[in-house]
Amino acid sequence: MGFFSKLKDLFKSQSQKERERSIEEYEDLFLESDFGSSLSSSLASSIMSEAKSERVSDDASLKSIVKSELSKYLYEYKINITPSEQNLILLLGVNGVGKTTTCAKLALIYKNKGYNVLLSGADTFRAAAMDQIKIHGQKLGIDAIAPEKAGNPAAVIYDSFDVAVKNKKDIIIADTAGRLHTKENLVREMEKVDKIVSSKIGNGSYTKLLVLDGTSGQNLYSQAEVFSSSLNIDALVLTKLDSGAKGGAVIKIAKELHLPIAYICTGEGYSDIEEFDKEKYLERLLV
Ligand code: GDP
Ligand code: MG
Repeated sequence: MGFFSKLKDLFKSQSQKERERSIEEYEDLFLESDFGSSLSSSLASSIMSEAKSERVSDDASLKSIVKSELSKYLYEYKINITPSEQNLILLLGVNGVGKTTTCAKLALIYKNKGYNVLLSGADTFRAAAMDQIKIHGQKLGIDAIAPEKAGNPAAVIYDSFDVAVKNKKDIIIADTAGRLHTKENLVREMEKVDKIVSSKIGNGSYTKLLVLDGTSGQNLYSQAEVFSSSLNIDALVLTKLDSGAKGGAVIKIAKELHLPIAYICTGEGYSDIEEFDKEKYLERLLV
């Protein structure tokens, strides 16, 4: 059951007097759903103050209070593509969150918009990952490059720019590794990739997307913190929202790390991706 259903049940079971005194109960409920302490207490106090003024009379008004509170922290992000330049979208995130799948989904979106796309397999940690990006490319009719054997992700990105220039590509969509020998090692490799992109990008746009698995709870925030503290992430992509994700951790990330959201993914198929729409997202979350 989602946190909003629990909140509705709690609210319904209370008398007006109880509602005015339940701040801790509300807070606990939000904390349980990974909203974090500062957001949980501000959500709880807005509910309390509205309850005191007796403005909360039914589910719809309760929903509108929670919605307007959460809505303050959520921002939509549109990827900018500069015409006639080399643009690069880099996908980052830990293992298994859906980076490679999202690369393929984005590649198809841009292909369908008429862009000439290159998929770049810079997850050089696992041989299977390099095959995976090539397979997606073949299925989608999109060029994909990846090294033959494990190596250096920055070198793959460097080569991708050369291939992109030669083949008049508009957009490079680059996959990266989610795991190296250590977390520090991963971040360091990604910083090298970042440097190469910055030196090669010219007037094109460079977008760093952090991919997060919407089904993971509390550790989502620390993942986002690690990447955003060293890599200047532009926006988030939330995956696996088809599996009934709780969503609280994501709002905490958006709030505390000031990160907008570019896309949400709702399945394994190539078309299971949508631009993030705040209103729609909140409607989906608050059921
Ligand atoms: P990576 O390690 O970050 O590159 O993750 P992958 O792209 O390989 O995805 C890991 C698994 O999650 C695969 O089985 C994907 O099919 C699956 N996956 C990716 N995105 C979604 C999504 O939005 N919904 C669901 N249900 N599964 C997804
Ligand atoms: Mg992958």
